[in-house]
Amino acid sequence: MPLSEFSLIQRFFTQQAVKNASTCLGIGDDCALLAIPNGYELAITTDTMVENVHFFKDTNPEQLGHKLLAVNLSDLASMGAKPLSVTLAITLPSVNEAWLSAFAKGFLTLAERYSVDLIGGDTTAGALTLTVQALGLVPRGRALTRSAAKVGDFIYLSGNIGDAGLGLKITQGYDCTQPDNALKQFNQPDPACDTGQMLIGVANACIDISDGLASDLGHILQQSHVGACLHWEELPLSDAVLSYIQDTGDWIMPLVAGDDYQLCFTVSPEKASLVPNHCQKIGIIEAQHGLRLNKSGIIQTLEVKGYEHFS
Ligand code: ADP
Ligand code: MG
Repeated sequence: MPLSEFSLIQRFFTQQAVKNASTCLGIGDDCALLAIPNGYELAITTDTMVENVHFFKDTNPEQLGHKLLAVNLSDLASMGAKPLSVTLAITLPSVNEAWLSAFAKGFLTLAERYSVDLIGGDTTAGALTLTVQALGLVPRGRALTRSAAKVGDFIYLSGNIGDAGLGLKITQGYDCTQPDNALKQFNQPDPACDTGQMLIGVANACIDISDGLASDLGHILQQSHVGACLHWEELPLSDAVLSYIQDTGDWIMPLVAGDDYQLCFTVSPEKASLVPNHCQKIGIIEAQHGLRLNKSGIIQTLEVKGYEHFS
């Protein structure tokens, strides 16, 4: 007999001991209760993943659990928020215990790494759909937003881009000699939680790259009413991505492929020395609107859209 809704929740989603000091009441009542310390704001974000839209049917459930949480923690990171807790709404076509167990393992292992409590959720039957709401703390009035970039700011990335895009290409049949890191970045990205918190008081604007650098930096430019020029030669690219480009000529891929979950942020030149060492400067914010790329001394306009649902 399949597990009931309540025993399913009990069995797979209540294994975690409470880790976070803000959790006053976790799973089991009509609401969870959270304490918000003085001097902080609550950062709240939600992301949904739908089978056949955000992930392939038959995706490894442990990796899926990890990625579902990672994409939500990444949104907290991009505002400089420290993650506290999450809720999880799952809609399942049927109860598959092996699938649920692996999914919960991927999800809760990452949660544990950042002392994030799973404090509630909802469980329903239907087409496979996974929704997380993530809650974090950010010092009052100091969150990193998309609208705060200033002309003259340097633009940085928290790490390599294009590896997740390469991972997707490998999944779709591209023959790569060094696939491991690309597949890891695509299937189990690490959210830049620590970097995000280090950028409070350092960065002006910040965003996480879910849809591709050009598209996501585009949101900063639009909301800050500025433009930018990137330097192709400064982009942090792995050897695997460089050899993919050499092999295919598809040099635009790292600029337009999504799923990297690095942070892209802007910093005024006076604060450049405070940027964490692992981050890479890739360009500059300019008054002229639009996004430009300086590639071998030739400046071209980048006209790039990310993935849009309903279009
Ligand atoms: P209600 O009927 O009041 O919405 P539910 O029966 O849906 O309550 O849920 C019972 C408890 O289990 C609640 O605390 C809810 O937050 C939690 N819960 C339900 N589904 C999940 C899930 N997938 N993950 C974590 N907690 C869950
Ligand atoms: Mg419910």
